[in-house]
Amino acid sequence: MELDLLPLNLPSDNERPVVMAGPCSAETEEQVMQAARALAQKGCHIFRAGAWKPRTKPGGFEGNGKTALPWLEQVKAETGMLIATEVATPEHVELCLKHNIDILWIGARTSANPFAMQALADCMRGLDLPVLVKNPVNPDLELWIGGMERINQAGVKRLAAIHRGFSSYDNKMYRNSPMWQIPLELRRRIPALPIICDPSHIGGRRELIAPLCQQAMDLGFDGLIVESHCNPDKAWSDAKQQVTPDVLDYILSLLIVRDKSL
Ligand code: PEP
Ligand code: MN
Repeated sequence: MELDLLPLNLPSDNERPVVMAGPCSAETEEQVMQAARALAQKGCHIFRAGAWKPRTKPGGFEGNGKTALPWLEQVKAETGMLIATEVATPEHVELCLKHNIDILWIGARTSANPFAMQALADCMRGLDLPVLVKNPVNPDLELWIGGMERINQAGVKRLAAIHRGFSSYDNKMYRNSPMWQIPLELRRRIPALPIICDPSHIGGRRELIAPLCQQAMDLGFDGLIVESHCNPDKAWSDAKQQVTPDVLDYILSLLIVRDKSL
C-alpha cells in the first residue's frame, strides 16, 4: 500500500518526541487558557482540546462546539502553540478552517464509519494541514488504512495515524487495549506514515500514562498526544486519565527516547 505523503513538519524539542497536550475537552475559556499557559511554560508546542465531543451515551458533556474555537485561537495568539481539535463532519472542518485551527484529528468513532470518512475526505480536498486519523474503535487495520486512503486520495498529504487502543467487552487493565501488533503491522505496511501514540485513551487512568509513553517510545512511535488538565479530577470528560501539566512534564523528562536508527 502506498500513500502519497509529505512530512508533517510539527515542532518538537531536540530531546523529546513530538508531543501534543491539552485537556480532553475545551470546557471554558478560563480552563483552556489556564492549561495552555501552563503547558506552554513547560515547553509544549502543540495544544489539543476537543470542541465537539462524541460521547458514548447521551447526557454527558458534548462539547462547546464552535464557541470553543476562538478560545483555541487565543491560545495560539498568546502562547504561540499550534492548536489541534477533533473534526467529525464537514461542517466542523469548515469552522476549523475559518478559525485557523492548525491540526485536525479524526476520532475513533468517526474513523470506523466509511461514509463519514468519505464525507470528510471530500471536504478536505487538497488541504495543506496535518490530519491525524485515530484508529477505529474496533481492531480493524483495514478499516483504519481505508479511512486514511480516502483522506489521502483527496490530496491530504500531511497525514499521520494515532494509535488510541481498541475497545473490548471484558478488558479491565486498559480502557482500550493497545494490541501493539496492529500499529506495528501498520508501520510494516506503510513505513513512511508517522504513528502517534495516545496513552490517555489507551490507559484510561493516569497511572498508566508514564509506562505507556515509554512503551510507545521503545516501539519507535513518532510522537505522543496526551490529555492534560490543570485540575484533572474536576474535568468534564475523561477525568481519570488526565494529568496536570507538571506531571506531564515530569513524565516526559523521564522518557528514554532511543535513536530510531538503532
Ligand atoms: C479524544 O481525543 O478526546 C477522543 C474523544 O478520543 P477517541 O476518539 O480516541 O475516543
Ligand atoms: Mn478524551
